[in-house]
Amino acid sequence: MTRYIFITGGVVSSLGKGLGSAALGALLQARGYKVRLLKLDPYLNVDPGTMSPTQHGEVFVTDDGAETDLDLGHYERFTGVPSRKNDNITTGQVYTEVLAKERRGDYLGATIQVIPHITNEIKDFIHEKEGTADFVLCEIGGTVGDIESLPFLEAIRQFANEVGRERAVFIHVTLLPYIPAAGELKTKPTQHSVKELMGYGIFPQILLCRADRKIEEAERRKIALFCNIDEKKVIPALDVSSIYEVPLSYHAEGLDHQVMDAFGIKDIANLDLSIWEEIVTRIKEPEGHVKIAVIGKYTELADSYKSLNEALQHGGIANFVKVKLEFIESSIFEAEDAPESIGEHLRGIHGILVPGGFGIRGAEGKIAAVKYAREKKIPFFGICFGMQMAVIEAARNLCGISDATSSEFDEDGAGGEHVVGLMTEWDQDGARVAGTDKDLGGTMRLGAYPASLIEGSKVAEIYGSTDISERHRHRYEVNINIKDKLEANGVSVSGLSPDGALPEIIEIADHPWFIGVQYHPELKSKPFDPHPLFVSFIKAAVKQSRLV
Ligand code: GLN
Repeated sequence: MTRYIFITGGVVSSLGKGLGSAALGALLQARGYKVRLLKLDPYLNVDPGTMSPTQHGEVFVTDDGAETDLDLGHYERFTGVPSRKNDNITTGQVYTEVLAKERRGDYLGATIQVIPHITNEIKDFIHEKEGTADFVLCEIGGTVGDIESLPFLEAIRQFANEVGRERAVFIHVTLLPYIPAAGELKTKPTQHSVKELMGYGIFPQILLCRADRKIEEAERRKIALFCNIDEKKVIPALDVSSIYEVPLSYHAEGLDHQVMDAFGIKDIANLDLSIWEEIVTRIKEPEGHVKIAVIGKYTELADSYKSLNEALQHGGIANFVKVKLEFIESSIFEAEDAPESIGEHLRGIHGILVPGGFGIRGAEGKIAAVKYAREKKIPFFGICFGMQMAVIEAARNLCGISDATSSEFDEDGAGGEHVVGLMTEWDQDGARVAGTDKDLGGTMRLGAYPASLIEGSKVAEIYGSTDISERHRHRYEVNINIKDKLEANGVSVSGLSPDGALPEIIEIADHPWFIGVQYHPELKSKPFDPHPLFVSFIKAAVKQSRLV
C-alpha cells in the first residue's frame, strides 16, 4: 500500500522544503521503506529548461531527458533514487495537457474549469505513482497563499480525502523569525500560515519549524495550541552547517518517528544512519583543504551550479578534504592585461574547472583559463561547454587552427573553423554543409547516453570500465573530424559515442589531470556514492596542493 506525504511551505520561500523532503526520504529509506519523491511546481513555465539559472538555479536533467527543477537533484543526492521525467509537474504542463484534451473533445463539451479539470489532472499525476513505492513524498513548490498554488492545494486536499486520512499526511514547513528587540522567536507568522492552510481545508499533522536558534518548550507549546497540532509534532528544524547533516538533525528531533506515528505505524524500526554519520564526520573534520576555481558566468547565484558544487564536495568527502570553491567570472580573463592577471587571480588554486554554459559572453575568458591550466599543469576539468572550450583552445594553440571556434558563436556564419558545431553542419569528410538550417538540427541532446571509453585511457582507469552512461544537455558537439589533429598534438579523444561519431571525452596524457567531458557527471554524484571523475579530480588537486 502506497502512503502519501505532502510537504507545503509557509511564511517565506527558500525554507529548504526540497532539502527537508529529500532528508525525510533518506530517513524513511533508512527504515527500510521504498520512497519516491515528486515535485509539483506552481509556476507557469512548461519546464524550467528555459528559465535563467540566475533566477531559478540550475536545470536538473534526468536520465530520461527531462529538464526539471533543481529540487529533484536534492532528492536524488539524498536517496539515490534516479529522478524521472514524470516526477515533476508544473502548472504550464497541467494546462497544456488539459487544453489539448479540450481541443480533442475529450471532455465531451463540458465547461472546462479549474475544479474539477485542472485538479483532476494534478490528482492523476499523483495517482499514477500508486504502487511504485511505500511512500510517495510530494512537495508543493511556492508558498501557501500564492495565487498559483491554489489548484495544487485543492488537488492534494481532495486526494487525501479520497485515499483516506490513514494514507495521507501533511507536513508544513514554516519559519520562526528571531526578533532581536524582543529577544525571542516569533510564532505568529506560523500561526497565520497554518490558518491559511486550514482555510483551504488542509490540516497539517506535522510542522517543521525552521529557526536559527533553539526553539523553547514554551514556544512549541504555543504553536501546538494555536495550530491544533500535537506538541511532539512541532519539530524544530534548526540551521545546520552542512546540508548532509539534515537527515541526522531531523531524526534527532523525531521527524521520522512522528511521521510513523501520524500514519499509525508502530515504530519498531532500528534504523542505521551510519552512512550519514560518516559523511558528516568527514565534512566536519577534514584532514586538509583544496581550492578549486570555477570559471563561469552565472556566478552570482550559488544555486546556478548546485549539482556541480555538491559533486565537488563529494569529491572532497571521498578524499577527506574540504573543497573551497572560488567562483570567478570568466570575463575578467578577457581584459587586456589578462595573460599576466590570470596568474594573479588563480594564485593558490589547486584545480581549475570550466563548467557548462551557453553563449559567447565570457567564452574567450574560459578559453584563456583552459590555456593557463594546460600550460601551467594545473588539474583541469572541463564540463560540457568547458570541454568545448578546451577543444577550441587546443585547436588554436596546439593544432595551429588560429580561427577555431564554435558555431554557437558564429550566428551570422561570418567564418572561423567550427571545431565545435551542430551535427548537421558537416558532411562525412568534415566539410561544411551549405545552407544548413541551424534550428532544424538544433535540438538539444538531453538525458542519458552511453559512451565507449578507450582501453588504457585515464578515464577508463578512473571509471574502472569502458562502458559508461552519462547525462547530457547540449546542442553543439565537438566535430569528429578534428580528432586526428587533436591526437597528433597530444590531446586524445578517449571517449566516443558507441557509433564513434561523437567525441564525448578528451584528455591530455602529458598533464597531471586534464579531462574534458561532453556530459554532466555532476548530476549523478551522491555524497555516499561520489562520482569517480570528481573523486579523481579532487585527488589530483590534493596532490597539486602539496606542490604549491
Ligand atoms: N552551449 C553548449 C551547447 O549547447 C554547451 C551546453 C552546456 O554546457 N550544457 O552545446
